[in-house]
Amino acid sequence: SRRDFSPAVVVGTGYGAAVTALRLGQAGIPTVMLEMGRLWDTPGDDGRVFCDMLNPDRRAMWLATRTQMPLSSFLWLDIDRRIERFTGVLDCVHHGDISVYVGRGVGGGSLVNGAMAVTPKRATFAEAFPDVDSDGMYRTYFPRAAAMLGVNHIDPAWFETCESYRYARVSRAHAHNAGLTTTFVPSVYDFARMRREEAGEVPRSALAAEVIYGNNHGKRSLDKTYLADALGTGCVSIRTLHHVRAIEQDADGTYVLTVDELDLDGTRVATRQLGARYLFLGAGSLGSTELLLRARDTGALPGLSPLIGRDWGPNGNVMVGRANRPRDRTGTVQSGMPALGIDAWDDPRHPVFAEVAPMPAGVELWVSLYLAVTRNPERGLLTYDAGSDRVRLHWLSGQAQPSVDQAKALFDRLNAANGTEYRSDLFGDTRVFETRLTYHPLGGAVLGKATDAYGRVRGQRRLYVTDGSLVPGNIGVNPFLTITALAERNIERILAEDLR
Ligand code: FAD
Repeated sequence: SRRDFSPAVVVGTGYGAAVTALRLGQAGIPTVMLEMGRLWDTPGDDGRVFCDMLNPDRRAMWLATRTQMPLSSFLWLDIDRRIERFTGVLDCVHHGDISVYVGRGVGGGSLVNGAMAVTPKRATFAEAFPDVDSDGMYRTYFPRAAAMLGVNHIDPAWFETCESYRYARVSRAHAHNAGLTTTFVPSVYDFARMRREEAGEVPRSALAAEVIYGNNHGKRSLDKTYLADALGTGCVSIRTLHHVRAIEQDADGTYVLTVDELDLDGTRVATRQLGARYLFLGAGSLGSTELLLRARDTGALPGLSPLIGRDWGPNGNVMVGRANRPRDRTGTVQSGMPALGIDAWDDPRHPVFAEVAPMPAGVELWVSLYLAVTRNPERGLLTYDAGSDRVRLHWLSGQAQPSVDQAKALFDRLNAANGTEYRSDLFGDTRVFETRLTYHPLGGAVLGKATDAYGRVRGQRRLYVTDGSLVPGNIGVNPFLTITALAERNIERILAEDLR
């Protein structure tokens, strides 16, 4: 019996996957994308595709019976809710001391993220990627990625007067009081539309607490950019609710994927095999690394590098909240899409890039919240556990200490300059710095180590990694622009050399 076959298969539909599929499609190469999540285009009973953060329902979380808000409490009250188990859009993958948030669905992380499109500092990029020509990246691929993703900039005049960023203006004033530098953050959320949301001219999305469970309007997620273009080539198709379980190889070199097909409740309804000549892994840091480790350690692809699973990191993520004085109102309407960051990355002892995060509760909270990226040299390790057929992430809470130290230095300074204090009621206990979660899983199949300088997996031919797995654990800013730009660079070379 002949199994299904496609010349090229791309696993996942996040940033790396979407770039790769578009460029394959434009080159006329028939390409199938396999995505474990669903396509988010169908309104529910309430007429909306996604639910918001204040009224979560089954659309919120991937196969969970409870929401898992990154801020799990307020005044120590649990703010998570029971929900029906469903193939929702946000997954929280627990691994011992750390929980990793990822998007599920056509568009991957682009469906749930904060839309911040930040170019890393050149020195940090060069240090992370010694094998990559930085000139070419900053001249060609970062601009290409930004243009393709629809990156836009906030109108500074509107920022000064709008209600939606009152919270960011308060944080900016406090940062400046402490002698710190702030910077606007480019976004893939349409700022012109956001402005019309505030003016009451269009339905609210960024201004209606739509962030981590998806946006119904305004965000240029990948399904509206790269993936729409990829489908438009006529050479690319996307199979949703298709979960790739394993990869092996036929004697003639064809890759054979074992794929579970799911229904909307997450129940497996079929398992089929799909053959591919060229296989691109874009399942994200955890997803792609898991597939490679399983293939290596079960002997399906025995030649894979021992470096697979190494150099994993949470991008130094730290969350922290500050309690403001009564006169510093942060506002009852807060844009869910951050637009401002405190840039202390070049501080030699305490490098921090802290985005000013919203707390869209609909009432005044007097809280300033931050998601900080710090420079943490600690790395985690992913291993394959044969007994459970699962991947384990080894990352211990103590490994986050350098991140806490860096964040503490910056926010102590902010508090001292402004007579403010930390909030200790936001993370389920009395801790002030939350490092038990990350939005930015990076590494596991690092460029120039587990792969060559273009993402070709060492020890195999026609097998590629295209996503955040390539980034060694810490890139100094929110990572999707870097992942997109690297994918653009790599697929250009692979198309020219491997797929002529
Ligand atoms: P992903 O985008 O993670 O895509 C991987 C895809 O593969 C997913 O759709 C997944 O369902 C699918 N998949 C995984 N395994 C399998 C399998 N076995 N079979 C089939 N499909 C599979 N970054 C920024 O730069 N700016 C931000 O503002 C920002 N905010 C964030 C906010 C949140 C809440 C989160 C969770 C992340 C945020 N990020 C942000 C991070 C950013 O979204 C990720 O870095 C980015 O999405 C990673 O891209 P990727 O290509 O590596 O994979």
